Amino acid sequence: MPYTTALRCKECSRESELLPVNVCDFCFGPLEVQYDYDAIARVMSRESIKNGPPSMWRYAELLPADPENRVDINAGLTPLIKADRLGKALGLNELYLKNDCVNPTYSFKDRVVSVAATAARDFGFDTLACASTGNLAGSVAAHAARAGIRCYVFIPADLELGKVVGAAIYGPTLVAVNGSYDDVNRLCSEIADRYGWAFVNINVRPYYSEGSKTLGYEAAEQLGWRAPDHAIVPAASGSMFTKIWKGLNELHDIGIISKPNTKMHIAQAEGSSPIVSAYDAGIKDIRPVRPDTVAKSLAIGNPADGYYALKVIEDSEGTGHAVNDEEIVDSMKLLAQTEGIFAETAGGVTIGVLRKLAAKGLIGKDEVTVAYITGNGLKTQEAVQDVAQTVNINASLRDFEDAIKAEDA
Ligand SMILES: *Cc1c(COP(=O)(O)O)cnc(C)c1O
Ligand SMILES: [Zn+2]
Repeated sequence: MPYTTALRCKECSRESELLPVNVCDFCFGPLEVQYDYDAIARVMSRESIKNGPPSMWRYAELLPADPENRVDINAGLTPLIKADRLGKALGLNELYLKNDCVNPTYSFKDRVVSVAATAARDFGFDTLACASTGNLAGSVAAHAARAGIRCYVFIPADLELGKVVGAAIYGPTLVAVNGSYDDVNRLCSEIADRYGWAFVNINVRPYYSEGSKTLGYEAAEQLGWRAPDHAIVPAASGSMFTKIWKGLNELHDIGIISKPNTKMHIAQAEGSSPIVSAYDAGIKDIRPVRPDTVAKSLAIGNPADGYYALKVIEDSEGTGHAVNDEEIVDSMKLLAQTEGIFAETAGGVTIGVLRKLAAKGLIGKDEVTVAYITGNGLKTQEAVQDVAQTVNINASLRDFEDAIKAEDA
């Protein structure tokens, strides 16, 4: 791990060795990877990045894993699309969509898992595992297949079929647990202790979570080396939200962009919105909830990074908003029908919150705005099944013309 120096506790700031652990020995606070930014600034430039691989690994110096040894299914460097039709509908002239639906396993999770799987290999683990709300399952299973190592994936038993099949196809041992994601996560913490496996989002979490920074780096690069004025980010644990902000600030720290003035807006589903509820109440204590939402990939009731996400909202002068199931589904349709992007329910959460921000006048019409679309709609087809209405005919021109006339009438 070329430019990493230590793990540091986010609470007591004590530093410790770079090991597969996620909590501080002294205070049980979460651990974060530290880097030698002076050394990184000497080797990294806009030019060096441009000449790097066409994937998230073009930012390898800022990732806590050995790029020579990487487990790579080509995650990242996804398109940033100027969304003129959706922008017009919302009165925004400078709206961009970061389309992470098109990652190899169809969600942004490939970014975090590519780093975690590489770190796990660096540490010598022989088994890759995770507790998943759905998308992580497929990504971990795919990366384990690519690395040729054993894989155990734990999911809540009520997941969408697209996510179950989308993980099972890679051949992991798939364990469906009767309970919520928070129950699955609690069980997996016990299993991680006993079996010594690399759980990407538990004991390997400090490495895993850093992969989300690439969503910040890429947006800045694709905007012509500038941070956006607004970012709208869907949140489950809140990790990705905090890391996009961290990524933008790191690019500034190593001299690649000017200081970000990005307002960070967090987007949650009403049925699972403990972070937004705390933001609305003006408090920093997260009260866990029992999730009940169509956006299953965001259904975490006790978010590990909730407190830090609230700090990012404060530091960036951003906001937080939640949308209900109907608004989520409606926004999935709006996105598909204006921009040709079929996002999963989490994308509906992002676009639903974007609509609220635009309607409240919180985004200026010429302010550069990036909305993060983090997962693919083919995995959550249940949510929008009602669109599957066909015009049924026999194979005759006459039938077709009669049917079209009836449609028009
Ligand atoms: C996991 C996931 C998120 C949220 O990630 P956190 O870092 O836990 O907040 C967002 N969108 C999709 C599609 C996801 O699968
Ligand atoms: Zn500590």
